[in-house]
Amino acid sequence: MTLPAHHIDQIKTLLGPKGWKERDDDLVPYLQEWRDRWTGTTPLLALPQSTEQCAKLVTYCAAHRIAITPQGGNTGLVGAQIPKGEVLISTQRLNRLRDLDTQNATLTVEAGMTLSTAKAAARKEGLLFPLSIASQDSATIGGVLSTNAGGMEVLRYGTARDLCLGLEVITPRGEVLSTLKGLRKDNSGYDLKQLFIGAEGTLGIITAAVLKLHPVPPIRRTMWCALDTVKDAIALLAYLRVHYGDALGKFELVSQIAVDYAIKNIPGTRAPLDHPSPWHVLVEFGFFTAPAGKTELETILGEAMQSGLISDAAIAQSDSQAEDFLRLRESLSAAQKGEGAALKHDISVPVSAMADFIDTASKAAEHLAPDCRVFAFGHVGDGNVHFNILQPRTMSREACMAIAPAITAMIYEQTLALGGSISAEHGIGIMKKAPLRTQKTDVEMAMMRAIKTALDPDNIMNPRVLF
Ligand SMILES: Cc1cc2nc3c(=O)[nH]c(=O)nc-3n(C[C@H](O)[C@H](O)[C@H](O)COP(=O)(O)OP(=O)(O)OC[C@H]3O[C@@H](n4cnc5c(N)ncnc54)[C@H](O)[C@@H]3O)c2cc1C
Repeated sequence: MTLPAHHIDQIKTLLGPKGWKERDDDLVPYLQEWRDRWTGTTPLLALPQSTEQCAKLVTYCAAHRIAITPQGGNTGLVGAQIPKGEVLISTQRLNRLRDLDTQNATLTVEAGMTLSTAKAAARKEGLLFPLSIASQDSATIGGVLSTNAGGMEVLRYGTARDLCLGLEVITPRGEVLSTLKGLRKDNSGYDLKQLFIGAEGTLGIITAAVLKLHPVPPIRRTMWCALDTVKDAIALLAYLRVHYGDALGKFELVSQIAVDYAIKNIPGTRAPLDHPSPWHVLVEFGFFTAPAGKTELETILGEAMQSGLISDAAIAQSDSQAEDFLRLRESLSAAQKGEGAALKHDISVPVSAMADFIDTASKAAEHLAPDCRVFAFGHVGDGNVHFNILQPRTMSREACMAIAPAITAMIYEQTLALGGSISAEHGIGIMKKAPLRTQKTDVEMAMMRAIKTALDPDNIMNPRVLF
């Protein structure tokens, strides 16, 4: 549906000359997903520069039932930020730091600030905003909250949801809802902010947030371990948690094929160990006190090796070596590019079921697509694996795409059979709307629809997403 010219003119007037774009060349970066999986269309890109301006814009759209797609850094992986004819509202100009309260350990920022800028602002005051994802130089605070992003520090600090104390949101009617008090305790009725976290822009536009900060653990220890099986990785996780509790920050599983393709396809990456091994884990601790230092860690690792849990290990001897380990892990999404079709699945199961899942799903994938390459990696400490199937070398791209639905259906079936989720951290977007119905009960779907209808009766807010 095309938007009549008089609406476009009204919106332009409301936003001022720097508050919109419409030339095709200017729109390309906003309408294309980075992997070229989705491209979109919009009658106008709106760039409000204040909460008030954003509220006026949404009020106008609500009055005229004009559909909206909110967008932050355009790093989402399920197509939810790419408009198909909706007015695209970017938070790019809503990027100010409003407050940093070191005593309350909170940072209040506008939604369009990038995650790495917010982290740097906290770090400047000796505090930590721990959310850590490979896209953090582009992903925005509004985006990470709207997708309830996870990443590599969930084991210790939780997801974006656990790191947010309050929100400012423009509702689909154009009202401003503000819960920016920065309170850690507030049991005065429903916790409304939680509705908008993980809502993928379907319930309103987040314009600002209060983020919970943490002290920075002064001693960091990073290591890379080789293991024979996923079962050993899960046993190692339990073993390290018994010894180190919450000092364990990162626990990332990586398959050998993932290491190989990172080294092959990403310049500057190096193998952390001399010999290949079926599985690897990147482990990182953050300690506050000295006793759990290098010597003790080496002893613990020695014991893990003696008991057969790990076959080899390297403890980073410098910050730059630790960064090398992290860079390898963070390059794994990009490492798959150039290896043909990649059928990607971001799933979670209970940690105790992870080995079972990977074993059963790998065998079933190889049965459906002989010679396929199982490229598995992820935040296995949270029960989350990116279980990707790369096109068999003996098969054309077209033939692989023809069997893709069967492979995905099998993977989701295995996931649900083990009590898991078809979306661990990337969301539903437009990509996973059909499988969502196989995961959620009728009661859950009805309740989600009731919330959507109550807040957005005319379905103007990211209308193609989730439902
Ligand atoms: C290389 C790479 C690595 C990644 N690694 C991880 C990872 O480890 N863990 C993880 O969880 N994700 C990961 N992601 C996914 C992605 O970075 C997240 O989904 C991110 O949180 C989205 O932020 P964004 O600002 O780019 O949002 P966008 O992509 O612009 O939008 C994402 C969704 O949020 C909505 N939205 C955006 N801003 C607002 C707002 N202000 N108010 C309301 N709705 C809004 C959009 O409508 C859309 O539904 C990765 C992505 C890439 C490209």
